[in-house]
Amino acid sequence: MDLNSIYTELIMEHNRSGHNKKPLLNPDITENGHNPSCGDDISLQLKLNGNIIKDASFTGTGCAISQASTSMMIDLIKGINIEEALNLVELFIGMIKKEINDENELEKLEDAMVLQNISNMPARVKCAVLSWHTLKEAINKIKMV
Ligand SMILES: [Zn+2]
Repeated sequence: MDLNSIYTELIMEHNRSGHNKKPLLNPDITENGHNPSCGDDISLQLKLNGNIIKDASFTGTGCAISQASTSMMIDLIKGINIEEALNLVELFIGMIKKEINDENELEKLEDAMVLQNISNMPARVKCAVLSWHTLKEAINKIKMV
């Protein structure tokens, strides 16, 4: 299997499973993200225990890339603290901007690492980074409280 089909397969799988796509009961934070250039709309919900992201999910509509990227991110952030989550956001955005290409570092992104190829498709970059920017906004709000 070449990299392109692994990439397509993972995006399809995250779209299909929808295991992270549901409203949370009593979320501590709800943050909305919108990408007008494609029409992607997501609502990210977090449940916190101190600084730990106890649970996370999303609802919304959008293209396959935006939905898969959100689901991949949620898999990563469940159970870690907000500082670690912010580091992953920076890593993901760094990867998309081609500023970070150290494979060992990028492996921390697990499934989301396959979105590296998106940097070659400028029109899709905003779809891929939407949820990560939304998470960053949400964490910044948590830190202000
Ligand atoms: Zn999109």
